Amino acid sequence: MSLMRNVLLAASTNPWLRDRATKTGFVRRSVSRFMPGEQIDDALRAASELKPQGITTILTKLGENLTRVDEAEQVTLHYLDVLDRIAASGLDAQISVKPTQLGLGLDRSLCERNLDRLIARAEQRNNFVWVDMEGSPYVDPTLDLFRRSRAKTARIGIALQAYLYRTEKDVESLVPLGVAIRIVKGAYLEPPEVAFPKKSDVDANYYKLCTRLLAADARKPGAILHIATHDIPLADRLATYITQNHVPESAYEFAMLYGIQRGQQARLARDGKRLRVLISYGEYWFPWYMRRLAERPANVWFVVRTMFG
Ligand SMILES: Cc1cc2nc3c(=O)[nH]c(=O)nc-3n(C[C@H](O)[C@H](O)[C@H](O)COP(=O)(O)OP(=O)(O)OC[C@H]3O[C@@H](n4cnc5c(N)ncnc54)[C@H](O)[C@@H]3O)c2cc1C
Repeated sequence: MSLMRNVLLAASTNPWLRDRATKTGFVRRSVSRFMPGEQIDDALRAASELKPQGITTILTKLGENLTRVDEAEQVTLHYLDVLDRIAASGLDAQISVKPTQLGLGLDRSLCERNLDRLIARAEQRNNFVWVDMEGSPYVDPTLDLFRRSRAKTARIGIALQAYLYRTEKDVESLVPLGVAIRIVKGAYLEPPEVAFPKKSDVDANYYKLCTRLLAADARKPGAILHIATHDIPLADRLATYITQNHVPESAYEFAMLYGIQRGQQARLARDGKRLRVLISYGEYWFPWYMRRLAERPANVWFVVRTMFG
């Protein structure tokens, strides 16, 4: 993986840079490309603007690695309200949460209780909760959390990262349960002991994991694959696999991030493909934004251009 990617990912966890960047005008302006605003109202507005194209959404409030229990409570209350507001809006919008936002790094049982509250509300509101996958030390606790919740409801799904060697085994262990899985390449800085260092290996594993989850024996009640990538050749190869193997439409959706590959998002929607766009909002956007820059270092030039007006 490139040096620039590693530098940007290392910078994403630097509190000094975070404090300065979030107060800098040109950085704030360049973030708006990927984020419709800091408030839930901004995200709901963006979701309703995508609706006429047939694009459905997932809403996520930025934030991670909380350090206080009362912050986890605030996040939980916020998402409970979001589930109510989505129901009132009539939008087809799900939510996606980071376990460390619900308190995973502070107290595991607190995090379980908070997730229980969200899935109970999702049941009431006929909605769905996605669990994001964070850095590799969180994979085991996140999978435990997910399995525990999946035993209670099918209204929950989990993200798994193709860059991790272990993911193939994790997928295999989840297939018998009939699970909603979002396959992503992976956004964190991981050492070669746990993750493929070469992008071509990550891409090959991505295809392998998705085709495994699209296979006939993986299609169980509750199972759905989110093909969450902006890698168009890879998504097109998977679309070809889907056609050739007569995979039913109910077995998968494409998923992309707000503001990335907008033209391709419109193309998928025009072609009648099911596409969900994940919309992020919130004040704590610095680490998330640095990960977006790291995914495409050319974005750094966009920031520089914004700096000069
Ligand atoms: C719906 C969704 C949910 C996600 N959830 C998680 C999660 O829970 N955990 C996690 O670790 N990661 C998550 N990610 C991020 C993911 O891991 C990747 O970091 C990200 O999607 C970039 O990889 P890619 O698959 O698009 O392929 P890449 O090979 O990185 O990119 C393919 C092409 O897409 C375009 N592109 C990609 N990223 C950008 C960008 N930031 N700006 C502009 N163009 C870009 C470029 O043209 C690039 O050449 C999620 C991604 C999506 C779409």
